[in-house]
Amino acid sequence: MPTISPRKPYRIGRSRTGLGLFATRPIEKGVKIIRYFGPLLDSRNDDDVIENKYLFELNSRWTIDGSVRRNIARYINHSCKPNAESVVNARKRTVFIRAIKTIEPGEEINYDYGTAYFKAYLKPIGCKCGACETKRKKKRAGVKRRAPAKRRKSRDRI
Ligand SMILES: [Zn+2]
Repeated sequence: MPTISPRKPYRIGRSRTGLGLFATRPIEKGVKIIRYFGPLLDSRNDDDVIENKYLFELNSRWTIDGSVRRNIARYINHSCKPNAESVVNARKRTVFIRAIKTIEPGEEINYDYGTAYFKAYLKPIGCKCGACETKRKKKRAGVKRRAPAKRRKSRDRI
């Protein structure tokens, strides 16, 4: 596992879906948390056409291959209700992850991976982010509450 400087406000830890990035200190809204980086891939170069889960498209031409070990930001998981966002500077070809609300120590850092990623990787298996898990739990609880009512109705008929 890569080492993280103790000065950084985050650490790698266990999350619902494997590993994730967690705040170790309060991170204020608007703060740039970490850079998402890796080799730049040029869509005009056939050798650069690769496929992995860590590709970050900057524009129609340039994509960052974030699968390199040193790219700690690749540990940040997707959330449909995130506490951070990705900020793309296409001219400089850089991406930063920035807090969109104050993140408390112990909280997992998340950003929305975007529609294209969601459709390709998350929709087929079901999104496991906190917001979606809560939605599913509520749905299950609703089913449970309705079940006894149904049984009563069938007994009435007998
Ligand atoms: Zn979700």
